[in-house]
Amino acid sequence: MEGISTEIVRNRYMSELVSTGDRLLADVVREFVDREIRPYRREIEESTRTDFEFVREIQKKMVGMGLQGAFLPAEYGGMNLTAVLPYCLALEELSRGDPAIVCAMAGGAWAFRPAVLSDNKEVLKEFAPKFLGDDLYVACFAMTEPSGGCNIENVDMKGRGIHTRAYLDGDEWVINGAKLWPTNSGVSDVYCVVCNTDPSLGDEGIALIYVPVPIEGFSFGRFEDKAGFRSSREGDFYFDNVRVPKAWRAAGPGKDAELLEDNLIFARIFSAAWAVGIAQAALEEVMEFTAERKVAGRPIRQHSAVANIIADMIIDIQAGRDCYINAAYMYDHPELYGKRTTKYMLARGSLAKVFCCDAAVRVTNKAMELMGAYGYSIDYHVEKFWRDNKIIQLWEGGAQLGRLDVARGYYDYDQFYENEVYEEIEGIR
Ligand SMILES: Cc1cc2nc3c(=O)[nH]c(=O)nc-3n(C[C@H](O)[C@H](O)[C@H](O)COP(=O)(O)OP(=O)(O)OC[C@H]3O[C@@H](n4cnc5c(N)ncnc54)[C@H](O)[C@@H]3O)c2cc1C
Repeated sequence: MEGISTEIVRNRYMSELVSTGDRLLADVVREFVDREIRPYRREIEESTRTDFEFVREIQKKMVGMGLQGAFLPAEYGGMNLTAVLPYCLALEELSRGDPAIVCAMAGGAWAFRPAVLSDNKEVLKEFAPKFLGDDLYVACFAMTEPSGGCNIENVDMKGRGIHTRAYLDGDEWVINGAKLWPTNSGVSDVYCVVCNTDPSLGDEGIALIYVPVPIEGFSFGRFEDKAGFRSSREGDFYFDNVRVPKAWRAAGPGKDAELLEDNLIFARIFSAAWAVGIAQAALEEVMEFTAERKVAGRPIRQHSAVANIIADMIIDIQAGRDCYINAAYMYDHPELYGKRTTKYMLARGSLAKVFCCDAAVRVTNKAMELMGAYGYSIDYHVEKFWRDNKIIQLWEGGAQLGRLDVARGYYDYDQFYENEVYEEIEGIR
């Protein structure tokens, strides 16, 4: 935004919360985005409608930055980058370029977080080296099923929404079921599959199991055709008696449920940063356009009505950024704020996601409005950010479950609260 904005970019974050190393990471990613992604946004979008070749070229360049295996512990060759804050800062910057193109490379950090947190040596020994090569090694965190996503993410459901079954046969897990929509479906080398060993066990039945492909019994359906977020791939895939070693379950009964919840909170927070990156990108387009184009004899942004709208966009973006940074800092510092998998932390992560996604919807709408017909044109990218943002609001619990999770952190809201009137009627019968 040089020459268009007087914002001091380095002051977007408080140095008390964001370390010098994390700021450096954000700077490096921002430079990469300005050089390798922003000038090619049109070509990227076109590539998603043909052979995806150009998308893959850029993804390989991202691997070249050394970020693919950064989430791994140092003893496996990684950089121990398990904190959510640096992940968020990098995502915000990448999202400002093309929100979806990062998915193929970043999937590993989310899908392998359960194995890293539980220090599952068998899984890490097997898969860590593959994330550290020069090629893309793609992972997928597979929760959502044809029967729904929110019921799996709803902590009150205690695994009852998970229909993909896993049972032990000797030293192997045998998996049967179907998944639909997980990011990197059909292009992944390895899947972290959210399974249920026995629905009557509640949380104890939840199992996170790693499945590399190709493997006997695994099949893929087709890629979904979507309104936006086109440079990532989603689809449906099936498990028909797929067998993997017993040791490839992330941790064990009860612990896997906690790791799933941890991953949900992690994702709520990073989704918030993702949405802020989109809003920032739309703001930059609008600032440039409205500085040059004139109406009623002066640049659009010099009209006070417009300055008010731009101010509201900036307020949404910076308040959203402050909100996700606070949530991320709390999550990354359990020694100060307590255990990560509490209802309060789920609420803080959800609060950040709901606010930032709603804010990004407002910002992209306003950006389109201020640019008139040009906002709707593919040449100015605002229409792309307007399309890309919507799914972040819908995934990971959607707008409704996100709000329920906020309520859960502040009072004893319970999805299964008994209804007294209903009980009385039941009694009469
Ligand atoms: C581009 C893209 C990427 C994705 N990536 C992944 C991924 O990496 N991994 C993965 O597992 N899934 C992924 N998904 C799936 C996504 O997480 C789900 O679509 C999401 O969880 C919502 O599930 P659903 O679409 O089945 O809607 P449903 O679960 O059927 O929910 C429908 C509606 O009901 C509302 N709702 C839900 N629960 C309640 C409630 N208790 N009370 C009131 N209202 C409620 C929701 O807000 C929503 O509006 C992705 C989807 C897309 C499109």
